Amino acid sequence: MANLQYICTNYACITLLISTDMVTKEVNETNGVAVETSISDSSMKKIVQKQRDYFRTGETKDVLFRIRALRTLKKAITAHESNLVAALKADLNKPELEAFATEIGVLIAEIDYNISRVRAWSRPERAPTALFFMPGKSRIYKEPFGTTLIIAPWNFPIKNLFGPVLGAMSAGNTCVMKPSELSPHTSAAMKEMIDEYFDPEYLVIVEGGVPETTELLKERFDYILYTGGTEVGRIIYQAAAKHLTPVTLELGGKSPTIVDDDFNIDIVAKRIAWGKCLNAGQVCIAPDYILVRKSVKDKLIEALKKALDGFYDGDASKGDDFGRIITDKHFERVSNLIEGDIVYGGQTDAKTRYIAPTIIDNVKMTDKVMEEEIFGPVLPIVEYEELDEVIEIINSREKPLALYLFAKSWRVRNRILRNTSSGGVCINETVMNAGSVGLPFGGVGNSGLGAYNGKTGFDTFTHRKGVMTKAFAFDVQQKYPPYTASKLRFIKFAVRRLLG
Ligand code: NAD
Repeated sequence: MANLQYICTNYACITLLISTDMVTKEVNETNGVAVETSISDSSMKKIVQKQRDYFRTGETKDVLFRIRALRTLKKAITAHESNLVAALKADLNKPELEAFATEIGVLIAEIDYNISRVRAWSRPERAPTALFFMPGKSRIYKEPFGTTLIIAPWNFPIKNLFGPVLGAMSAGNTCVMKPSELSPHTSAAMKEMIDEYFDPEYLVIVEGGVPETTELLKERFDYILYTGGTEVGRIIYQAAAKHLTPVTLELGGKSPTIVDDDFNIDIVAKRIAWGKCLNAGQVCIAPDYILVRKSVKDKLIEALKKALDGFYDGDASKGDDFGRIITDKHFERVSNLIEGDIVYGGQTDAKTRYIAPTIIDNVKMTDKVMEEEIFGPVLPIVEYEELDEVIEIINSREKPLALYLFAKSWRVRNRILRNTSSGGVCINETVMNAGSVGLPFGGVGNSGLGAYNGKTGFDTFTHRKGVMTKAFAFDVQQKYPPYTASKLRFIKFAVRRLLG
């Protein structure tokens, strides 16, 4: 484990390199925390070069190394758990239960999942060999890409950083990690943890905002995974294209929630309210808006009010169970969406960046609240009479990251599944699909490109190298020049009959 444990001398050396190479230095004020950032072309270059050199030693390719590294990460997270929980509280007022359930706990569970399976995932896979190539065999070798860059957002700053990192580590890559500058306490806590347990030539956290990310993106990485808004996603994609670097883009969008009948309406309302209030609605797959059958709407609204009253005793600003909006800018943006037929909530407090869980009834698809992803605890309700209207609404907009459907009827479920496209679907629940390591997590179209989670994360960061091994026996002479009519006849026969 010595090679994985943090080596002080190396760290001191890297720190020195960064500080002596500083080209510019600036201080970002985020959430009252001064984040000192240093931007240097050459320091970023050195960080990446060190990781490249280390990758070339081949150490990370050893599956035992990867298992030990994953164990070390688990040890690090467990040892730093209270620091991480406190940092999430400082950045997002994230309740401890949410911090464990949606960031730290799920991450530890996924580490265990990967540890117990990475050996099997890494084995070469047999592939069929056509008769034409006999005697011979085909195998798919699993090869790490090399040095990867993982860029994370602020809403789940731990899970959205280390979730992809787990895939990259399991596949045998090195990682440069860039947490969001908008969650500075968590960014600093994660950096402290990684610096303590890992050598920067294997795993390193580079803190900072747009200038640092811009500098990093000038470097050539072997894979980039970005999580965040769609507009920045385009910037990342363009930067990656310069080096032909493959990318995964985990973006956002407006995830619809369809309620087609009143079956178990109290549970339906609780599940929607929970999905919307988690992290104060700042969840990429939060139910963005509700599409509800007209005959069910009143019952659903009453059940939602009851659920929210039950969660927060009628006032979410009291107690520790409801998060706050990350920045003043986001507070302003979400507050401005609260207008129209407000049937629940609506209260805001700029000083604490509190926005109450808010339900807006009678919303039209052309209203302001339906233009962009809400990313806050505001829930618009749109009614429909026929399922065709729902399909038309969903298909006329950008493909969402998630789609939620509450429907008892299999006919309705199948119609929605077959006639709409989204990153993922969760039937009769919200948000929980993201926690299932057996399922790929990712978007489609505007909501993203590629996926991760469990084995999908391993596959994302793995190059599948096709390897054919041929015997020397039965050397097909007909493939060699000089080409003759009989050779052509044979090749035509072989290609038609022996290649499939
Ligand atoms: P953000 O502002 O924290 O940005 C994300 C990352 O991009 C940060 O590390 C930031 O430093 C970097 N960045 C920002 N501007 C940049 C620029 N011009 N050039 C280079 N890098 C830049 O996060 P955000 O974009 O506000 O995140 C919210 C969005 O992320 C929402 O749309 C949400 O749906 C989406 N999201 C998606 C997922 C997912 O898994 N698909 C998860 C969480 C959030």
